[in-house]
Amino acid sequence: MSTAVATQMKTTGTCDLREWLKDVKRLEQLEQISGAHWDLELGALTEIILERIATPPAVVFDNVPGFDPNRRVLVNMLETLERTALTLNLPLDLKIIPLIDALRARLRAMQPITANVVSDGPIFEKAITPMRSFMIDNLQCGRLFLAGDAAHIVPPTGGKGLNLAVADVKWLSDAIVQFYKSTDERLLNAYSTNALRRIWRAQDFSNFMTNLFHKQASQGSFEYHLQKSKFDYIRLSKAYATTLAENYVGLKEI
Ligand SMILES: Cc1cc2nc3c(=O)[nH]c(=O)nc-3n(C[C@H](O)[C@H](O)[C@H](O)COP(=O)(O)OP(=O)(O)OC[C@H]3O[C@@H](n4cnc5c(N)ncnc54)[C@H](O)[C@@H]3O)c2cc1C
Repeated sequence: MSTAVATQMKTTGTCDLREWLKDVKRLEQLEQISGAHWDLELGALTEIILERIATPPAVVFDNVPGFDPNRRVLVNMLETLERTALTLNLPLDLKIIPLIDALRARLRAMQPITANVVSDGPIFEKAITPMRSFMIDNLQCGRLFLAGDAAHIVPPTGGKGLNLAVADVKWLSDAIVQFYKSTDERLLNAYSTNALRRIWRAQDFSNFMTNLFHKQASQGSFEYHLQKSKFDYIRLSKAYATTLAENYVGLKEI
């Protein structure tokens, strides 16, 4: 687009993205691509356009396979001065320094909305979630089997609760399938032992993470320094960091 077009062009000056797209089209800085794949093409096309075209257009991807045809993807919104100026509702022919000056002047002149102090409302209804650990060390009683949170609660610090529940169900479903296929009860009877190995590991790891990341004692105390030392040690020691990572992503062999 020539500077002349930008100078003459009267923009809509609205905050509506549809109007913004119309303005960008009039600037001749809009491309539309239909049918590009989200996994294989969207990112690649975006990068190619950015790297190869001196004045890269904004690009709207339509009809992305596997997605609602009413949804569109917009990339490279602010890659030119004109589009940046358009978005900021500044004159489109500004060069970079005048544009920054204009933006700074606007920010300086901004009048913050006067604060309205409130003393009541949902935001004040805050609570600290208790970090609790709970454990039933036997998941079977005759024909009753427990799985997931019904048997064990871990504090959320290790992100293990749902993973444990799914792992329990995997052990249990395999055992039930075996039983109904061949009346073989061995896996059912081993369920508790098999599942508990992972559960205890996760209990320990979650407890470790809670003690590591949550303030345990007042600053400067003995416990405070132990916690800090442990934290520093993760940064220093590859072996310790690996142990943490291994537990975090899950131990396949348990
Ligand atoms: C805020 C929060 C964040 C979490 N973040 C993570 C995380 O990042 N990663 C992770 O791995 N885990 C996380 N968890 C833990 C995870 O959500 C639970 O460990 C997991 O959902 C347990 O699965 P579950 O099937 O055992 O129990 P639930 O998901 O609680 O399912 C039990 C179901 O039984 C239903 N139910 C209860 N009583 C009855 C009844 N009498 N009759 C019929 N139905 C009933 C309930 O409505 C519920 O749908 C988080 C938990 C919370 C609360």
